[in-house]
Amino acid sequence: MAAAPPHVLLLPLPLLGHVSPMLKLAKVLSLRGLLVTFLTTEHVHRRLSADEGLNCRPGFSFRSIPDGLPADHPRSGGQFTELVKSLGAQIYEKYRDLLVSLREPWPVTCTIVDGLLPFAAEVGEELEIPVIVFRTSGPCSFWTYFCIPRLIEAGEIPFPVGCDMDELVRSVPGMEGFLRRRDLPSICRVKESSDPILQAIASATQRTTHYRGLIFNTGETLDAAELAHIRSTCPVTYTVGPLDTILCALDRSTGSAAGPPSSSSPGWWREDRTCMPWLDAQSPKSVVYVSFGSLTVLSRPQLLEFWHGLANCGHRFLWVIRPDLLEEMDGAGDIPVELAEATKEKGCLVEWVDQREVLGHPAVGAFLTHSGWNSTIEAISAGVPMICWPFFFDQMVNSRFISEVWRIGVDMKDTCDRATVGRMVNEVMEGERADEMRRNVVGLSEMVRECVDEGGSSRIHLDQLIDDIRALSL
Ligand code: UDP
Repeated sequence: MAAAPPHVLLLPLPLLGHVSPMLKLAKVLSLRGLLVTFLTTEHVHRRLSADEGLNCRPGFSFRSIPDGLPADHPRSGGQFTELVKSLGAQIYEKYRDLLVSLREPWPVTCTIVDGLLPFAAEVGEELEIPVIVFRTSGPCSFWTYFCIPRLIEAGEIPFPVGCDMDELVRSVPGMEGFLRRRDLPSICRVKESSDPILQAIASATQRTTHYRGLIFNTGETLDAAELAHIRSTCPVTYTVGPLDTILCALDRSTGSAAGPPSSSSPGWWREDRTCMPWLDAQSPKSVVYVSFGSLTVLSRPQLLEFWHGLANCGHRFLWVIRPDLLEEMDGAGDIPVELAEATKEKGCLVEWVDQREVLGHPAVGAFLTHSGWNSTIEAISAGVPMICWPFFFDQMVNSRFISEVWRIGVDMKDTCDRATVGRMVNEVMEGERADEMRRNVVGLSEMVRECVDEGGSSRIHLDQLIDDIRALSL
């Protein structure tokens, strides 16, 4: 009887910033001939089903399990922590049962699980199915998470009461020269080092060393220094990104029936394409694209500060205002007349767009972003400089890298007033510094493109990953 083919199961945390890159990897692995099962929650599965191209590849299947929340729970915006808690309580047994039941007719021979779902790795170990971890944040923040025990031991976490948030931290090797307290992941802003979220993420990150490998959605050259540190403890680390670009290239070369990734967030919210003719009518590099990702929430005062800042800066803006962007779902309330007027004249508001397409539009000159890793890598790929307003988690680190290490943007972390918004937007849109940031980001975009070109590091790492999955499957 012929040996069973390698069958890889991928399991992301059911949030867009995790599902989206892991789904891209799943498609890439499928295009490269592996049997693939993509497992997610029923709620996410329903949203993804809106993407028509998903079910048509032979050897690619979706499975779903309940997340334990009531059907009408929003699971997004400010309420995603309830989702994470509910998952923790629910999913171990269900995941285990599913893995066992998937043994016939083709058993799962390898799992690629989200690094923030350590139970999934435990199940893999229990069933003796090899586990590779995917971290959907970048290497720079992963390394800071990895150093949390050192930071605690050195007395750098928790922060001393009344401390200077601009002081440099010393216990993240390689970042001593530029990483300030305020740039550490937001989970480090705790009163006690025993804080449960801090401990959970630190311990999930430390456990990465136990698994068969670690995957990042980045290009090797972008994060070379951090990767060298990471590989000193996790030697089998693959950089296979940007997955968007790899997927498009593979799709072209295989003439695949699955079609290209239709958008950066298939089926998540309905994309409003009315902004595309609006963008077409604008001059090159004249528009600030504004989006805070899929989870960030703003209070009404913050929304109004951003709005005034954008209305008063000298530039046009395209702003994604998700239906659940506001902290309190009281609608936008009355918008002051001057804002409504300014928006009519120089703004375009939408609920959701195909971000990859927008960032690639010639009219877009800068991106006001919350600095999520997917948004960061998409902006770098598109060669668009950034104004960063990080909200939480890894975004704090990403925005520091954008402003200080890669020098492709500015960081307005912890500040949200109309004057700063306007000043920073202008700094990235016009003048010598803006030119320099633009040159830098175009340079990085080329560097990242070389990683995904034939013979580039991401292609080599992808080949290695596939060889390793095959070897682990024997
Ligand atoms: N995104 C999108 N349309 C929008 C806003 C965001 O497709 O209008 C996508 C964006 O391209 C990115 C993802 O949503 O792939 C957001 O992921 P990120 O890691 O940047 O932030 P998160 O949502 O996880 O905070």
